Amino acid sequence: MSLDKTAAILVVGAGTWGSSTALHLARRGYSNVTVLDAYPVPSAISAGNDIYHLGGTARGLSAAGAISTTGDFPGWKGYFMRSGAGWAHARNALVAAAREAQRLGVRFVTGDPAGKVVTLIFEDNDVKGAVTADGKIWRAERTILCAGANSDQFIDFKQQLRPTAWTIAHIALEEAERALYKNLPVIFHIEKGFFFEPDDERGEIKICDEHPGYTNMVRLPDGTLASRPFAKTQVPVDSE
Ligand SMILES: Cc1cc2nc3c(=O)[nH]c(=O)nc-3n(C[C@H](O)[C@H](O)[C@H](O)COP(=O)(O)OP(=O)(O)OC[C@H]3O[C@@H](n4cnc5c(N)ncnc54)[C@H](O)[C@@H]3O)c2cc1C
Repeated sequence: MSLDKTAAILVVGAGTWGSSTALHLARRGYSNVTVLDAYPVPSAISAGNDIYHLGGTARGLSAAGAISTTGDFPGWKGYFMRSGAGWAHARNALVAAAREAQRLGVRFVTGDPAGKVVTLIFEDNDVKGAVTADGKIWRAERTILCAGANSDQFIDFKQQLRPTAWTIAHIALEEAERALYKNLPVIFHIEKGFFFEPDDERGEIKICDEHPGYTNMVRLPDGTLASRPFAKTQVPVDSE
């Protein structure tokens, strides 16, 4: 169904997908796009608020790749192969997408309570917008849910969405170590995890454990079990 270019479009979440979606809508001429996020960009709880992420065909519909493969971001650095895999600076790509979307006229409302969505508006078997923690009602002709790991708190995904957490370490290197590991290809080791070269800004090397992820299962009022995301500084009990 075609949508008028002036139609109100609401994007819930300004993380990897929300910022990218807003940017692409603005580039296609949609002039009434609003993005809501509970945190300022880059959100403290965004999965994309990280240094390097793998992108490219190795990850299929890769989130990092979704931003890095298209677009024109001055100063953006990354490595991408169309027929293989590469990396993107996930946080910088996210921030660049949000800034560019803003420059093209997208409205970002962030922080708690103004940008924190508490519920979607369900009417006539459809979603007609959202309500934020300050009580404001945001009506829209299209509502695009990009709340990442929190998404299933707004729509019943019939247990098809399971937020999981990964353990990663960012280790700041000395100057000499940065030079030594610069241009290191991404190394994937099934037992020890994968490693990226140090990032340009902070000289941090990222080590990521490769495993299916930790869940935080809680029993919901209706009796079902669901994984609920928690602050990234918390250590899940089953990882101790
Ligand atoms: C450690 C780690 C390593 C990863 N490595 C890779 C990789 O190498 N390659 C790759 O492609 N992918 C990787 N991923 C996955 C990738 O980062 C995520 O798939 C992607 O960032 C998800 O984007 P998103 O927009 O769905 O969610 P997010 O980026 O998490 O965005 C969700 C947004 O919703 C906001 N939000 C939440 N609740 C509310 C609310 N109530 N109201 C308003 N806003 C709200 C949050 O603040 C956040 O900004 C990795 C993820 C992690 C955690």
